[in-house]
Amino acid sequence: MRIEVINIGSELLFDRLNTNINLISKILLSYGFKISKCIIVGDKKQDIKDAFLNSFKNSDMVIITGGLGPTFDDLTRESIADALNKKLIFDEKLWENIEEKFKKRNIIPPEINKRQAYIIEGSKIIENKNGIAPGIIIHENGKLILIFPGPPNELKPMLEETIQSIEKNLKREKVITKIYSIIGIPESEVQTRLNDLIDKMKENLIILAHPNLIEIVLMLHENQKDVFLEVEDIIKERFGINYLGVNVSSIPEIIGEILRKKKLHLAIAESCTGGLACKLITDIPGSSDYFIGGFITYSNILKKKILKVPKTILRKYGAVSEQTAIYMAKNAKKYGKCDISLSFTGIAGPKGGTSEKPVGLVWIGVCYKKILFAKKFIFSGDRNTIRERAVYKGFELLREILTKNE
Ligand code: ATP
Ligand code: MG
Repeated sequence: MRIEVINIGSELLFDRLNTNINLISKILLSYGFKISKCIIVGDKKQDIKDAFLNSFKNSDMVIITGGLGPTFDDLTRESIADALNKKLIFDEKLWENIEEKFKKRNIIPPEINKRQAYIIEGSKIIENKNGIAPGIIIHENGKLILIFPGPPNELKPMLEETIQSIEKNLKREKVITKIYSIIGIPESEVQTRLNDLIDKMKENLIILAHPNLIEIVLMLHENQKDVFLEVEDIIKERFGINYLGVNVSSIPEIIGEILRKKKLHLAIAESCTGGLACKLITDIPGSSDYFIGGFITYSNILKKKILKVPKTILRKYGAVSEQTAIYMAKNAKKYGKCDISLSFTGIAGPKGGTSEKPVGLVWIGVCYKKILFAKKFIFSGDRNTIRERAVYKGFELLREILTKNE
């Protein structure tokens, strides 16, 4: 079963991010369908027709989003009807439905919205609970065409319901996806260690690099379940402690689970990361079970006043130094009255670097039981990337220490 997606909207060719494709692929994958191709087309009738006819010729199902609104630039209905040589028919009942929706909001139905009450001859309608424009289902030449409104909050429930209602009648080799996560090893090294596997499974395997971890995505047919286990064994053996697991939660969640299980409490002292580490930890609901809080001591004054980093240390070694990171971690644990702490002090740039202390230099400190140290890292990238990489590296250290010191 070959599926192609067409996302319509000129804004998607300017500055708006096409988030619908991500939404669609997630929903389809959960039913074992894989998308073969996706294209973005602006609000131009001929372009929409061309793109549609091309996808229609080459696939078994075409999913289209956007351009079902009432304004002049919403041309999907007309374009698809035209491409299929079908008429657009005004549907009295559909118009009543639309009028009803407006009346509920105390608005006189605008005449312009009548355009949305036209249906493509021979098509069926998909109800839109979150908006005005209905979706459209067309069966043509044994193929399926699904058309949805562009707004993601309308598309999502409509697509979910539609796929759920039709999936049993659709032939496909059901695909299952598993994601194996590796932390603390660069992409090239991951690839090198898995060369033989990649050679064997090129068609089914994708390696995704994030600033903080590497994901090995494996897609297989449902009758190949054994292969998943074989692959996991290989990954486990080759990556040891750096292997996080299969389909795992985010790293802050993993850390949270470990802390909760061990009944430990964490505090974080941050300088260059400005609260990002605390933000990511507290993104997890229930993090108050194990997170005491953070000290965002961006200035030397606060490092001295709040975290009691000695003046002499700051003067002698500077704020970005092993000694300062150690004091920050030690005192965050002490004043947070908790069990484990993490600290960050560095130069996120773009300015402020020297040859001795370049942009990207970050000292990360840890204090836990008798362990107290700070480690030096030099991260590359822009300000945001450096900060993000630093925080995730800190989390990685935390996880390692917590798992090694069981
Ligand atoms: P409307 O009745 O709102 O006009 P529509 O079906 O005509 O609905 P569009 O005009 O294409 O849809 O898009 C409406 C809004 O939906 C856009 O401004 C945009 O915010 C969002 N949207 C549309 N397509 C996408 C997409 N592919 N990814 C993310 N957002 C999108
Ligand atoms: Mg529109």
